[in-house]
Amino acid sequence: MSYVFTPAPQAQLDVTGSQDKFPVRRVYCIGKNYLAHIHEMGSDERDPPVIFQKPADAVVPNGGEIAYPIFTKNYHYEGELVVALKSGGYNIAVEDAASHIYGYAVGLDMTRRDHQAAAMAKGMPWEVTKAFDQSAPIGPVTPVETSGVLEGGRLTLKVNGEVKQDADISLMIWKVAEIIAKISEQHRLMPGDIIMTGTPAGVGAVTSGDVLEVAMEGVQPLRVTIGGPAA
Ligand code: MN
Repeated sequence: MSYVFTPAPQAQLDVTGSQDKFPVRRVYCIGKNYLAHIHEMGSDERDPPVIFQKPADAVVPNGGEIAYPIFTKNYHYEGELVVALKSGGYNIAVEDAASHIYGYAVGLDMTRRDHQAAAMAKGMPWEVTKAFDQSAPIGPVTPVETSGVLEGGRLTLKVNGEVKQDADISLMIWKVAEIIAKISEQHRLMPGDIIMTGTPAGVGAVTSGDVLEVAMEGVQPLRVTIGGPAA
């Protein structure tokens, strides 16, 4: 058996302290998970968590340079903690959730913000605003044996060296274990699934030439440069 053309490569992330790669299956994302970000977006803080996906081939391991995407004039960063799973299932209990974690990374949920408000107003899906090419730069995965289970710690995002986002992940409305449990009520989580856990306040627009840095204690940092227009 052969394919009618060469299949796309397996999406993957580096692993801290190893030559082996973490193979990415799906990219789940949580929206509206920090009160201060909900307030800056003008949303209702009592809403249940928003769960959406990006395609695995939107992952850009370690950042590097990413193109300024087509079809937006308001291209935003969202710095986030990323959880990588080694196992899964349906209906995972909150108290069992940590046993499914392979490790942690920091990532960017890049967003076409101009289309998000329009999509929400019309009750339309978020694909166009969230699920485009190169929309998920993610740093190396640090295994949980090294990092420990992360329930607190300072997450920061800098643009051109200036701090724009600075929050403790303990401020998440839905904690990591609750997120894993919630997603597994709707989807069978599997090894290789990664979860972008939502962004704190301070989101903003970037343009070609800007340098984004996301950092969190105990996790490898991510550095991304915004390149010229996608072609
Ligand atoms: Mn986000």
